[in-house]
Amino acid sequence: MKNDFIQNMTHELKTPVATMSIALEAIQNFKASENETMKSEYIQIARNEINKLDNLVDKVLSFIQISEHPTLEEISINAFMNEVENSFNLRANQHNIYLKIQAIEKDIHYYGDKHNLKTVVFNLVDNALKYNQKQSGIVEISAQENHSFLTITVFDNGKQIPKDLAKSIFEKFYRVSKGNLHNVKGHGLGLYIVKMIVEKMNGSISLVSNELGNYFIVKLPIK
Ligand code: ADP
Repeated sequence: MKNDFIQNMTHELKTPVATMSIALEAIQNFKASENETMKSEYIQIARNEINKLDNLVDKVLSFIQISEHPTLEEISINAFMNEVENSFNLRANQHNIYLKIQAIEKDIHYYGDKHNLKTVVFNLVDNALKYNQKQSGIVEISAQENHSFLTITVFDNGKQIPKDLAKSIFEKFYRVSKGNLHNVKGHGLGLYIVKMIVEKMNGSISLVSNELGNYFIVKLPIK
């Protein structure tokens, strides 16, 4: 699976690098530096590609770091949720999104690999903030313990994901092309990584999407 991924990735990584070298070459060779409009256009191209690359590098690193040999530890879900809140609060504020962490009455103790759990939840929250284009956006994260399962739900009140796409969005490099999302950066890897990790943790992920928004539901067995 990793070889297949690396092959696809090589192309994805090389394209922005090639575009950046062309932009820099243009500035150097074609006297673009003497033409302010042209110069800033090429610099912008290079900047956009760097952003893409930065996002991609994060995704590749989180893929590579999927622990083959997980480090198991007891995780307080309460503390974990605080960590999620602290990491995303600023970004949510900047996007005028109300980030709500539902209080847990009785702390849940999950025994597992924290890095993997973090990658899963962070990717989901990242998407929930990224794709929510509502005026009064809401992203809500909740955790529950039920019949020896930990359920973490990431809800956003953004545009409903069409039913026929509910499966495809978990495939690698899949991005919804319809709608007004072309300005949102991404490579269609986040949910693929989430699904792989969740399955490695013997859990499952599902999407419930309706007129209220999207619910990404992660279910993990508590040992
Ligand atoms: P990326 O965000 O890098 O494109 P993902 O694998 O994380 O890749 O997501 C795949 C696609 O699923 C996205 O391109 C987007 O169209 C859709 N998607 C994921 N999460 C959401 C969400 N919370 N709301 C709306 N669309 C979403």
